[in-house]
Formats: sequence, structure tokens, C-alpha cells
Amino acid sequence: MKNCAIVGINWGDEGKGRMVDLLTENYDVVVRYQGGGNAGHTVINEMGKFALHLLPSGVFHKNVVNILGNGVALDPENLLTEIRDVSSKGVSITPETLKISDRASLLLPWHRDLDALEEQRLADKKYGSTKQGIAPFYSDKYQKKTVLAGELFYPEELRAHLRDLLEWKNLTLTKVYGAQPYTMDMLEGWLRDFCEPMKAYVCDTGAFLREAVKADKNIMFEAQLGALRDLDFGIYPYTTSSNTTAAFAPIGAGLPSLKLTDVVGVVKAYSTCVGEGPFVCEMFGEEADKLREKGFEYGAKTGRPRRVGAIDLVATRYGVEVQAATKIALTKLDVLGYMDKIPVCTHYMVNGKKIDSFPFPMELEKAEPVIEYVEGWKCDISGARRWEDLPEAARNYVTLIEKAIRCPISYVSVGAERDSIIIR
Ligand code: GDP
Ligand code: MG
Repeated sequence: MKNCAIVGINWGDEGKGRMVDLLTENYDVVVRYQGGGNAGHTVINEMGKFALHLLPSGVFHKNVVNILGNGVALDPENLLTEIRDVSSKGVSITPETLKISDRASLLLPWHRDLDALEEQRLADKKYGSTKQGIAPFYSDKYQKKTVLAGELFYPEELRAHLRDLLEWKNLTLTKVYGAQPYTMDMLEGWLRDFCEPMKAYVCDTGAFLREAVKADKNIMFEAQLGALRDLDFGIYPYTTSSNTTAAFAPIGAGLPSLKLTDVVGVVKAYSTCVGEGPFVCEMFGEEADKLREKGFEYGAKTGRPRRVGAIDLVATRYGVEVQAATKIALTKLDVLGYMDKIPVCTHYMVNGKKIDSFPFPMELEKAEPVIEYVEGWKCDISGARRWEDLPEAARNYVTLIEKAIRCPISYVSVGAERDSIIIR
């Protein structure tokens, strides 16, 4: 049996979905272990172009079982919409190919409202949330104020539980934010429209996974976002509200005793970031506009223009360490083909000192990038399929990154399509 986590090394949107879609061919099970419908994993293959939010990126392979683990923010409304959308494009999603953990907590209708209300209250101090309710969801989960998916099978107890939660949450909605309260009728509508149809997929996925391990199946774990957005190890408070790191994969997936055999860290050939927070390598003006256009850097979930910058070797090396990556997939190398000289951030200047280790989040606000320039290759490399097909300057760029981050770059992606890949 082999198992592998595919995780982001940077701020997210590195191309994890694209790598899961490519590599699942050799796996039996794919599990999403954290995050929620705020993810945007773009996959382009023979079935079309998809932006997946909650569904694992293994859904395109007929023989793969896809699991939403206990660690995800399970939003029935988002999930149902996504299942319908993906099914309408010819992808078969059935209780045999999609299984939802009965221990996953439900993102309740008010979580989205609370997310928006709090961002509104914060005004110019906002976090840049995708407003999918993720932060209120996880705080409620840790306060034990959500409902488990498995509770849908106990209608009476479920309603009593929801009534208690409703009474509690209405205090915050009305007294803190001056918003409209929820009613049991509204929750009944939500149960009927979104939770009932979802029930068919809910089961004891922990037991399923333990059997899969015994039967020597290959299991893949799919993360959302990247190391720098991890709640504990990222750029707090501009992180997400869950653990994006590979070490959390066995727990969030429902196999807490499992040891990962491989961790594929996905790194983008330059930096991008959605939302607020320190972003040391950020480019501005025309230089930024050009990179954003060339890389088509707009959020898959929100359509927001992403902030862009040079590759950040300081942050990337930290991301590799935190993820304990055993291999790297470097994506979007093709995008840099227009640059004469490619900027690379090798160090930070903080308080007049040149450093190459990733500092405490507050120090990041003061950090200035130290940029070096390397030779560009000035041509289209999207047709390259072998390492030797790449121009020397492109190979030099890859090996420079590899040396700096101290992890082998085993995959070089030169396009969004499944087969636009160089395997070294
Ligand atoms: P994820 O959230 O990590 O799965 O990444 P996203 O899907 O949000 O963002 C990656 C974007 O880059 C998507 O639009 C992909 O289709 C695209 N993409 C992935 N790999 C490559 C690549 O090697 N070259 C190009 N040009 N696009 C890529
Ligand atoms: Mg994304």
C-alpha cells in the first residue's frame, strides 16, 4: 500500500487539483481532509474544465472512491450545487464513488451570514474572507456548536439539537450584529432541500478507510490552500481556520494512526495570494498586471484578482519544511516564458538584517524582499514533455529552486491540461 498527501507549499492555488487529477490514476481512494467550499481546485481533462470546491479532485476517475473526511467544513448547500453541476457535465457521482464522513460537522446556514457580518464590521481591517462561513464554522466546531452529518439519521434528536443551537446563535446574530434571527422553519427548509438529498452519501468512512488499509489500497489525501495559510504554522491571523499541513491529513481524513509514505508539495513557479495579509514579494503596477494576465490569476471561487509576485524562496523553503514534502511539483513554469529576466526572492531584509529563514508573522509586515534576477528563456515551453525538451535557462531556473528549497522537483507542469507535465 502507498499513501500520499498532495499539499500546497505556498498561499494556495498552486495547482493541487491539477496534480491530484493527474496522480489519482494510481490510487484507489482520494480524501479531502480539511477546509470547505471556499476551495477552488481547477481541473482540465478530457471531460472538460471544472472548478471543484468541496468534491475531491479524484471524481473524474471511475474506479476511485472519493471521501469527504471528518475534518472538512461540510456545507450541504454548496455540495449539492456542486454535485449537480459536475453531474450535468457527464461526471458520475454516486454513493459508491462519493462517501461523506458521518463525523463531518455541518456548516450551518448562519455561518455564511456571520462571516459576511464580521468582515463588514471589520471594514478596512478585514481578513479578506471568501465569505463561505469557514471561520465561524470552525470556531463553532471547536465550541461543539455544530451538528455532525451522522445526526441526519436521528431526526428527532437532530431537531432538538438544532433548536438549542438556534436559540444560542440568534443571540449573536441579533444582539451583536443587529441581524435577522433564524427560525426553525428556515432550518426545516434547509434540511429538506440540502441535507436530505445528501444523506445517501453519508456513512462511516473511518471504517471504510480502515478496511481499505487492510486491503492494501492506495490512498491519496487532498489538501486545500497551502502551508502559509495553516492555522498554526501560517501567517496568522491571515490564515484559514483549519490545518492545511500534511501531518493533519490522517486525522482530518479519518485514519489517525496512518503514517504518510509520500508528501507531494505543490509550488507555483511564481507567487500568488488571495485576500489580505503580508505578502513580501508582491509586485505592483504594470509588472503585476502582466504576470496576472499571463498566468490568468483570478480566484476560481470568487473571481477576485490574485496578488502576484516573484517566487519567494524563503517562504517556499519554510513551506517545504512544515509540510515535510518528499517531492515537489512545480507548476505554471510556462507562464514565465515572456520574461527577459526572472525575479527570484532569495532573502528578506528585516530590521536591517538579511535573513533566509521565515520570520514570526508580525516581522513579515516589516520584511523587504531581496531580489536577484536570472536569465529568462523567452519562448513557449507548453509543448515540452521531457526534461531535455526544456531550454537550458528553464532547467536552470528549476534547479535553482530545487537547491534552495532542498527537496527534489519531481514534476514540472507546463500547462493546465492533465498531460502538460514533465516527470523527472
Ligand atoms: P489549487 O487551488 O491549488 O487546486 O489551484 P487553482 O486551481 O486554484 O489554481 C491553479 C490554476 O492554474 C488553475 O487555473 C489551473 O488550471 C492552472 N494551472 C495549473 N497548472 C498549470 C500550469 O502548469 N500551467 C498553466 N498555464 N496553468 C496551470
Ligand atoms: Mg484554488
